[in-house]
Amino acid sequence: EGKVTPLVEVRGIGVRFGGLQALDDVSFDVRPGEFVSVIGPNGAGKSTLFNVISGVQRPTSGSVLIDGRPIRRYRPDLVHARGVGRTFQVARPVGSLTVRDNVLLGAGGRRLHGVLSSLRPRGRDKTLQHRVDDLLELAGLTAVAHRPAAEISPGDLRRMEIARALGDEPRLVLLDEPAAGVGSDGLTPLAELLGRISDRGVAVLLVEHYVGLALSLSDRAVVLNRGRLLALGEPDEIRANQAVIDAYLGT
Ligand code: ADP
Ligand code: MG
Repeated sequence: EGKVTPLVEVRGIGVRFGGLQALDDVSFDVRPGEFVSVIGPNGAGKSTLFNVISGVQRPTSGSVLIDGRPIRRYRPDLVHARGVGRTFQVARPVGSLTVRDNVLLGAGGRRLHGVLSSLRPRGRDKTLQHRVDDLLELAGLTAVAHRPAAEISPGDLRRMEIARALGDEPRLVLLDEPAAGVGSDGLTPLAELLGRISDRGVAVLLVEHYVGLALSLSDRAVVLNRGRLLALGEPDEIRANQAVIDAYLGT
């Protein structure tokens, strides 16, 4: 019956740090173009899950499949090369470079050997320049494109990080708490960017503390609690789920 191969399938993932079971038997999938949120209290294992999916952290048990093929070597560059991009909970801009050049770096990402070697020859590449302009526009950064990244607002910085992650056209982006520290002014432009990414058919896996924001954008949500999958479903099911309310939403 025409079952679509998931873009990413997380199968029985466990991660142990010494005596701590950070993730325990977590399974779900992300279909092509789907918007999935991962929510749950602090310490639930959300960032660890992202680290596994992006190849940063080898799981203790279980496997992650991309396009139906398991990740065998957990290396971020190999996962990235298969079309999975990410941002980090703490932004990592090159503060001395302009916003535009930061985004340009992302757009040269897969072939990036070093900042200078990539900036100079690629700086004359017309297609690349178009792609960077498009990303700046998409992220609402055109007005600050020529300012050093160190001087822009936290909200602009977050969207710059996302634009950077989109630069080499991933099929899935993992976004870890993009609303952290952006302030209420930054939430609307961020939500608009996330919606536009999704409209372009790029799958999104979002970790976000602002549950309302996350659920309003999502096709489905994964709820983690103490490393375990507490619930998985569409936003309405998640909002009405008593276990989720008790463990997380109710407080
Ligand atoms: P979340 O992102 O949901 O807040 P994390 O995935 O960061 O949760 O952390 C889950 C648990 O694993 C926490 O108890 C955290 O302290 C622990 N943890 C995360 N990374 C490591 C690590 N590298 N070494 C040891 N413990 C870790
Ligand atoms: Mg985290």
